[in-house]
Amino acid sequence: MSNEEKISENQEEDTFWEDGSFIESVSAEEMKEKEKTIHKKHDEDMNFNCKECNKKISAHNKDWHNEMCDDCFNKFFESH
Ligand SMILES: [Zn+2]
Repeated sequence: MSNEEKISENQEEDTFWEDGSFIESVSAEEMKEKEKTIHKKHDEDMNFNCKECNKKISAHNKDWHNEMCDDCFNKFFESH
């Protein structure tokens, strides 16, 4: 039924961020802090430094790219 298909599609979208499968290792408190930055652009709030090369990074990169700039983050995951 096409109606049922529509409903299940919507449910998937709604629960994507809520079920927490994306990040399992952070506490609820940390998650609240991180939720503030996930919707920020990767070049917004450049108030941090890459832990690898000390380049300016955004709050988004700090929380979501393992405290690395995009370059180091990519290298990190290529080499691991
Ligand atoms: Zn870097």
